[in-house]
Amino acid sequence: MKKRIVIGNWKMNLTVPESTILVEKLIKSLARVSNTEMVICPTFLDIYSASKELRGTNILLGAQNLFFVDEGAYTGEISPVQLANFVKYCIIGHSERRINFGENDKMVANKVASAVAHGITPIICIGDTLHEKRDGLSKVVVMSQLETALSYLTESEVSDIIIAYEPVWAISTSGGMVCEPVDAEKMAKDIRSLVSALYGKKAATDVRVLYGGSVKDSNAEGYAKIKNMDGALVGAASLDYNNFTKIVIAYDKLASSTRKESTK
Ligand code: PEP
Repeated sequence: MKKRIVIGNWKMNLTVPESTILVEKLIKSLARVSNTEMVICPTFLDIYSASKELRGTNILLGAQNLFFVDEGAYTGEISPVQLANFVKYCIIGHSERRINFGENDKMVANKVASAVAHGITPIICIGDTLHEKRDGLSKVVVMSQLETALSYLTESEVSDIIIAYEPVWAISTSGGMVCEPVDAEKMAKDIRSLVSALYGKKAATDVRVLYGGSVKDSNAEGYAKIKNMDGALVGAASLDYNNFTKIVIAYDKLASSTRKESTK
């Protein structure tokens, strides 16, 4: 069984000096965590300095996006080749990229395949908008996003990726409505059922499924208790080292008590 994982998505926040200070604080406050993987995803500008600071610590580094071509005339983009030496993970298909930058499911699939081909583990974000939820389309939309995102992967590759269910309506900056743990758990079950149908039971068991959407210190324990989910993708609260540390500790404490049910 893989370790559970808590990932901080810093989005377009912090200058390089501010990022350096936050990394220093996290290194100290998380030094004793051993049962939970921890990842921070700063902006591209901060990745190089963060990679040096984090060397030899228990905190790993991720990017927030990548483009699916190795090099060339793609102004403003960054390639998996450029990232591969610095990051282990990359967030792909975040709702903010889908909504603000027109990323569609096909682009997400290409990015996922390209990350995997370069040894970067994709954290694939899938989620329903408030409109889709109100229209009763949540499951259909999320499953369709997932199926397309996985299009170019093999069974063993799917086993190693991370899928983050992030209901757009529950993300703090988009209204921050509450997604109850029981509802996140239902979606995680549907996600594993689809993975099982497409890639087999082993992939469905091995793949890590996270919840993301307004996770913070005060509600982390509730999300950490969700059976068959493997961690959290945290946005706003990850910018506060104290809050992020408490979230990680909530997951770490319950590290061995989840994933008791079968995946089907
Ligand atoms: C996110 O944007 O990935 C996210 C989960 O944000 P927040 O925790 O702020 O809702």
